[in-house]
Order: sequence, then C-alpha cells, then structure tokens
Amino acid sequence: MDSSGSMTETHDKVMNQLRGVVDPELGSDIVDLGMVKDVVIKDEGHLNITIALTTAGCPLRAQIQKDVRSRIQSITEITRVTIDWTELTDEERAKTMDRARYNLSQDDVATQISKSTKSIMIASGKGGVGKSSVTANLATGLAMRGLTVGVLDADIWGFSIPQMLGVHGRLGGNEETKRIVPLEKQVGEGTLKIVSMGFLVNENKSSLNWRGLILNRAVRHFLEDVEWGELDYLVIDMPPGTGDVQMGLAKMLPRSDMIVVTTPSKTVQAVASRVASMAQSYYLRIAGVIENMSSFITEEGKQYEIFGSGGGIQLAQELGVPLLGSIPIDPVVSEGSDNGLPVILKEGYASDALNAIVDEIIHSAVPRINPLDCTAHNTIETSVSINN
Ligand code: ADP
Repeated sequence: MDSSGSMTETHDKVMNQLRGVVDPELGSDIVDLGMVKDVVIKDEGHLNITIALTTAGCPLRAQIQKDVRSRIQSITEITRVTIDWTELTDEERAKTMDRARYNLSQDDVATQISKSTKSIMIASGKGGVGKSSVTANLATGLAMRGLTVGVLDADIWGFSIPQMLGVHGRLGGNEETKRIVPLEKQVGEGTLKIVSMGFLVNENKSSLNWRGLILNRAVRHFLEDVEWGELDYLVIDMPPGTGDVQMGLAKMLPRSDMIVVTTPSKTVQAVASRVASMAQSYYLRIAGVIENMSSFITEEGKQYEIFGSGGGIQLAQELGVPLLGSIPIDPVVSEGSDNGLPVILKEGYASDALNAIVDEIIHSAVPRINPLDCTAHNTIETSVSINN
C-alpha cells in the first residue's frame, strides 16, 4: 500500500465484506456481533484478521473461515489473508448474545403481542414440578395488583390452566376483526385474558394426539390470531422440556424472558438446566429460578425437606440468575388448583412466597415496560447493550 488514503479505502472494503459473513448460529454478521477484533493491512496487500469466537472450539469456525476467505477474494488489493482466532471474554460474549437477541427481535413474527408487553415463559425440565400451578398463581398475583395479564396455556398436551383458574368455556371470535377473543376473568381491579387448548376441545374427554408440527401451528395461531389487546404481561405456561412448541415460541417471542421452575431435587435441577440452555441458544433472557415444593411446613412452623434441598439455588447459581423464591409444599396449593381458586388469593406460607415472587417480578426481575416512561425505555436499551 503506498498511501494511508488507499489503505483506509482498502480497510473499508474489507470491513464491508466482513459484514457479509454471518455467524450461522447467531444469525447476525460477525462485525455487528463484535467478533472482528482486529484488521491489519500490511504492505503488499497482506491482510491479517483477528476473529473472536464465542468458544475457542466453535465447530462453526471452518464455515466462518471459508466465508471470510471467499469474500475477501473479491478485493483485488488484498494478495494474502491470514486469520488469527481467539475467544470472546465472558463480558464480550454476553454483549454478543445481547446483540444477536436484539437483532432477532427486530424481525420477529408479527404476533398480536404488543411491543410494550412483557412476556414471561414459565418453563420446567419435566412435568409435575408445579409449572402450571406457578403460572396460574403468578398470573393471578399480577392481576391482583391491577394489571392486565394474558395467560397463554402452551402446555398443549397437558393443559390445566382452565381448571386452575376456574375459567371454562369456548373461544369465540370477533366478527369485525376476524380474530379469536380470549376468555376473561376479573381479579380485583385486574384482568386475566386466557387462551388454552382446553377452550377448543372438550376439556375432560379429549386427548390430543396431534403431532408436534400441528401443535406448533396451533400455538402460532394463539399468538398471531388472538385479539390480546394491550397487556402488561403475557405469562406463558410452556410444555415441559424442550421440543418443537418450545422452540417455535422462543422464535416467535425473542424478547421474552424465561423463569425456570424446579424442585429441590438434584435430578430435576439437572433436567431444568437443559431447558435453560435451550433458552440461551435462542437468546431468551432467563429472569430467574423458582423452587417449588421446597419443604413442608407444619402448623407449628417446623420444616421438612421432603424432596431434598438446594436444587433451586444451585440451578440459579449455575445460570447466574437470581432465585426468585421458594414455594413450600402445601395441600392448599393443589386444593386451590383443583377448585379454580389459586392459593395466592388466600393467606398462608405458600401465598406469602408467591406474593413475594410477584413483587420481585414487577420490581426487578421482569419490570413492566411503560412506553411513555424514558427510564423504562433506557432500561430496555441498556439491557440489550447496543453500542451504535
Ligand atoms: P406441572 O405443570 O409442572 O406438570 P402442576 O402445576 O400440574 O405441575 O402440579 C402438579 C401437581 O402438584 C398438581 O396436582 C398441583 O396441584 C400440585 N402442586 C404443585 N405445586 C404444589 C405445592 N407447592 N404444594 C402442593 N402441591 C403442589
């Protein structure tokens, strides 16, 4: 290179070409994701690029290398290319993931969920840990505080939300908008808007033998064709584990946060961490862990740790997220679920624990978005760490 001017020009051409190299896993280009650490052009057109991967042993390295080389080939000033590989630091990796998540959120599917709604996926590694009970109680708790809360029962095979919330009926349609209208339940000043497969089939008799793909489409309809209106929160009862429906939802709602429900048992904790890694691979933010069935507390206040102890806090530490709370085993929880009156509406240890979790969600774990409030807006901006 003979002049710094042409050097800058070549540098720009290189950067332009690198913007065309997309990390196949993260779905954004490597410049935007902050993976291009250094570009040095020496005399005689020798180019050295330093690329940082999310992990040193990233299997996509060969693909990225091929793409970089084939793109740089089109720049005649470059006669030789060498690539140095390095690894993103933890902090850089977090920023890269945030950026990828933000980019995905820009082209999400046109759902009827407004951008100012905070959606929370309630997930678990396996069934029977109390995920649906927690969903029904948290949604009720949010509504008790005067909020409008959508409840999407995406646990399609094992739908139990209608029973737990005591809402039964059939989904109807709005003649004008041609959209499905959720069933509503008033809780104090707040409102629950509920959609469940249970409102489409005969709740008690039908068994759903639909295949994953069809179920995935059903859930898609629930997001695209339901007239949800303005919601403060959308709480989603996810099917247990990882599968087509979970992944479909993660793709459709990339701005969603996830709360993982686990029990104190180590085995349950291990399967729950698999769900968390699915969430992370779709860049969903994990807002926290809830430990359910933590201990049994007698009337005298004595605690028995029936299912062991420590699963919740250990999972939270493993994921680097807060433990939002621990809910004791209490027959009033299942009674409440069985007769459609979530336990959070009553008094007692379980209700206290659930109410504390709801407050934690509103105040810190998943604060509400107020589009008119600059502070909230700034929080969203910073939480995705975009440096333009
Ligand atoms: P999942 O959605 O994870 O399959 P459910 O919410 O359906 O789990 O709960 C499974 C069973 O355990 C239900 O009968 C429910 O009423 C009961 N249950 C859930 N949490 C508690 C609790 N903290 N104490 C007592 N029973 C509970």
